[in-house]
Amino acid sequence: MSILSRLSRKAAEQAQVAELPRDCGHWELAPRWDAAPDIGVPNLVVSYASTSCRSIFLPEEVKAMRDS
Ligand SMILES: [Zn+2]
Repeated sequence: MSILSRLSRKAAEQAQVAELPRDCGHWELAPRWDAAPDIGVPNLVVSYASTSCRSIFLPEEVKAMRDS
């Protein structure tokens, strides 16, 4: 791989990071379950993923965010 293509790949990676919202409020959180039979059961949610920045949060963290 040439130095130039390596540099442009690096630039592409940085551009991807820059696309993420800087001040994400994590307003839209998608619940995630460990096992397929658990899907849809609210108290078996293992984590939540922000739909905009894709950060992962534990249910306790989501609860703390919503309470504050
Ligand atoms: Zn977010």
